[in-house]
Amino acid sequence: MLVAWNASINLTAIREPAEIALRHVVDSLAAAALLGDVGGMVDLGSGGGFPGIPLAAALPIERVALVDSIGKKAAFLAAAVEVAGLSERVGVAAARAEQLASEARHRERWPAVTARAVGSLSELVELAFPLLAVGGRLVAWKRGDIAAEMLAARRAVGALGGGSIDEEAVHVTGLTGHLLVVATKRGRTSAEFPRDPAVRRREPW
Ligand code: SAH
Repeated sequence: MLVAWNASINLTAIREPAEIALRHVVDSLAAAALLGDVGGMVDLGSGGGFPGIPLAAALPIERVALVDSIGKKAAFLAAAVEVAGLSERVGVAAARAEQLASEARHRERWPAVTARAVGSLSELVELAFPLLAVGGRLVAWKRGDIAAEMLAARRAVGALGGGSIDEEAVHVTGLTGHLLVVATKRGRTSAEFPRDPAVRRREPW
């Protein structure tokens, strides 16, 4: 489905099935051990369904929300969830993460947020922490040297409720240099976050 729909909407630059299996599916599952015990998860900027769909299929997570602001991508996600037989546990929202964060049923309600290829770490903290319950965790997929991003993200974690942020290497053949960053939220997040995208650009962490 990913390959078929990719002809009309831009879901992935990777076209070869074995490469899709490694770089999308296996890469998504690299976080399985970090998320095996969570009751609910938001996949922020899910795009072609990564990492949300492989994780929802592999793990007994009760509630999964795949979120993408682009309507066509959300339409793909809804079709893929249906075909994969995941509709009972997995929902799709065609919305910006900022929108969800302003809704009481989503704000500080989720045990986990995942995000791959969606923005800088500090931006992800600002989008994810408002959705996370205290004790919840953000898992972000990164690559290469992220030292500067980690510094800014630590400032964001401190401002959005406090907590820890750590990186761990992915030990999978073919995914050398891939990292998972886990930020755990310790306190409540002020209603002033997330800031407007224009303000975030003007005043980065
Ligand atoms: N996670 C997928 C897609 C990455 S592309 C993968 O790893 O393959 C980034 C996606 O995030 C795009 O589909 C874009 O529409 C979505 N996105 C970016 N900012 C967003 C926001 N604030 N809220 C919801 N979706 C967002």
